[in-house]
Amino acid sequence: MNPKIWLSSPHMGGQEFEYVKEAFDTNWIAPLGPNVNGFEKDIAIALSENVEVAALSAGTAALHLALVQLDVGYGDEVICQSMTFSASANPIKYQGARPIFVDSEPDTWNMDPRALEDAIRDRILLTGQRPKAIIVVHLYGMPANMDEIVTIARRHHIPVIEDAAEALGSRYKGIAAGTMGNFGVLSFNGNKVITASGGGALVSRDGDAIQHTRFLATRARDAAPHYQHSHIGYNYRMSNVCAGIGRGQMAVLADRVAQRRANNQYYRDALRDIEEITFLTEPSSDYFSNCWLTTVVVEHPKVTREDIRLHLEKDNIESRPLWKPMHLQPVFDGAPYYGGQVAEQLFNKGLCLPSGSNLSESDLERVTAGVRQCFE
Ligand SMILES: *Cc1c(COP(=O)(O)O)cnc(C)c1O
Repeated sequence: MNPKIWLSSPHMGGQEFEYVKEAFDTNWIAPLGPNVNGFEKDIAIALSENVEVAALSAGTAALHLALVQLDVGYGDEVICQSMTFSASANPIKYQGARPIFVDSEPDTWNMDPRALEDAIRDRILLTGQRPKAIIVVHLYGMPANMDEIVTIARRHHIPVIEDAAEALGSRYKGIAAGTMGNFGVLSFNGNKVITASGGGALVSRDGDAIQHTRFLATRARDAAPHYQHSHIGYNYRMSNVCAGIGRGQMAVLADRVAQRRANNQYYRDALRDIEEITFLTEPSSDYFSNCWLTTVVVEHPKVTREDIRLHLEKDNIESRPLWKPMHLQPVFDGAPYYGGQVAEQLFNKGLCLPSGSNLSESDLERVTAGVRQCFE
């Protein structure tokens, strides 16, 4: 059996262990400490000089605290891109609110601005209330059409949460993903472009909101010698040990993005002659993707994406269908949906190829050889 090729596995840079060792040497083994502060600073520097960052236990926690701070509660409605991972939508339910799902546009695979506008108008007509927030996702690292989405959101006075969990290092018109909405969400899960072994961050230009995020994430303890609470708190802060891994990873972020983009270019070149395979592609120079995962759509009368996936699996290569849209998930059965069949078709025909920054040239050759065999 050939060695396993993973879809996206952790890739350490070398400095991580020094930060972790320092945490041990100084006994900062807690969800606070110098690595947490340092990691937040490193992220802010990488994104923009105008943002602040709160390091949290997960990207999901960051989404949850964004909704809490936008006062999303029982009976409210929140618009969410349907084509995404369930973590984008689950926190809507944590708050007792109702998700309203919206289709994708064919070029970015992200939220379709026209379907968004339809959804907003229809919800206001039906319920007499504006949706409380819009969750837009930069899927697989590809930035969403943010100019149009932010314009629509502003016109209706609805705040935007950018789920940039897959898009650290991506840019739209030169602006970092995660810094264009009212809140941005990052993830440092083990499979993302860089990892803290697990973790996330909430980003905002509103420094007070980030200060408040840290307060909420550490049990919302009021300033008193005893434990005094006037808010419901959460235990969502990042561990100082994990933040040490994150600091080491931030030092190699640019290199990891370059490597994933190089993987993407390799696949394009190696599969160029197979017309039935098309790639998720930056629509213009306004879009810069970190190419977290290289994703393809397979449109062939006989060969399906499932044929390719199973063929690769036989050679110990992990690939995966694209995200199954939220409006087709049993858990969100009955949630309102606006749009057509773009997301559904992507799910039916799309495949994620192994994309780790630690893939070797021979790994990439093995994957493309496997894909090519399916068309012979
Ligand atoms: C990974 C991911 C998240 C969640 O991040 P965690 O750190 O795993 O909680 C949210 N949204 C999207 C689109 C993701 O890919």
